Amino acid sequence: MKHINHRIVSAGVAAIAGAGPVAILGAVAGSVLPDFDIPLGIPHRTITHWWPLYAIAFGAPWLATTNPILHQFFLWVAIGSVLHILEDSLTVGGVPLLNPFGKKFSFKVTRTGGILEYLISLGIVVAVVLLFLKDPYYSQSFKESTVMMMEHLRSLFRTIAP
Ligand SMILES: [Zn+2]
Repeated sequence: MKHINHRIVSAGVAAIAGAGPVAILGAVAGSVLPDFDIPLGIPHRTITHWWPLYAIAFGAPWLATTNPILHQFFLWVAIGSVLHILEDSLTVGGVPLLNPFGKKFSFKVTRTGGILEYLISLGIVVAVVLLFLKDPYYSQSFKESTVMMMEHLRSLFRTIAP
């Protein structure tokens, strides 16, 4: 899947889940992590596209932290990166399932850059717009999450520079 579609799908899933800006940011960050194999020169869609890596790397700090902002962020980085891998599994190239360097698994639904991935992105954008326009829960939930995030940032800055 193309980067733009990875970002849209992950941010959209977070928004549909009723998450706030921290979660959406985490989901977008996670959505691009697996493709760091390309600049790092690691064989494409091997270890960086192995879902347990993200479940452990971000699931552990998610369980360990008591800070609500970091708690949300780590959870959504994990979800965003696992979604990236799930999205790549729709393409014929596939992703490793159990052995990071073993045989790749694919649902063989589309090819990378195919029309279907753009249609999935478009469908998610339409769903998010409709939910925010039609259901007051979404705008209210987003507003509350933003207020909570600002309160935590304010108290953090007060601790650093009273
Ligand atoms: Zn990828």
